[in-house]
Amino acid sequence: MGQVREYLDLIKNFSGFASPGSVIGAHMLLIARKVLDFEVDEEIYVTCETTNCLPDAFQAICKSTIGNGRLNILDTGKMAVIINRKGMPGETVQALRIILDPEKTVNYPIIHEWYMNTRKVSAEEVNPELIRAGENLYSWYFVDVIVPEKEKKIIEICNLCNEPFIKRNELDLCPACLKR
Ligand SMILES: [Zn+2]
Repeated sequence: MGQVREYLDLIKNFSGFASPGSVIGAHMLLIARKVLDFEVDEEIYVTCETTNCLPDAFQAICKSTIGNGRLNILDTGKMAVIINRKGMPGETVQALRIILDPEKTVNYPIIHEWYMNTRKVSAEEVNPELIRAGENLYSWYFVDVIVPEKEKKIIEICNLCNEPFIKRNELDLCPACLKR
């Protein structure tokens, strides 16, 4: 439990407040560290399946951020993450998918009500429960992840707005102008 407290302090310093989603993220990271046996300073790659609070934990604790490319969002709207270690481009690496398991949260009524949104439950009410339940709320399994090849960055000047943008297809209009 000591380590969770330490993680929660990092989250509070980062975002000013430990939201329930970030408390969940802290537990998911603890599980991944144990199961995947990460070194202390190892770069950790995270794909969050929701934008809701969960990403804050990884940005605050293991410095996996959108900017450094170690945090991705694949928004399925689920309280789930996929975590893996660094690999060479094109290489297949073992990853862990961890989800807040409704078959387990059901044993913790306050958490379950918060999760299923059947009652308005405050962070003050649910956070202590999340900490008390610890790792008992989660399920996980291994998945294979293919490390993406580094794409060559080509900068194009948009024909319409004249602003430089990263070219990702054959068009010479930026995505913003294309939408107009
Ligand atoms: Zn443009």
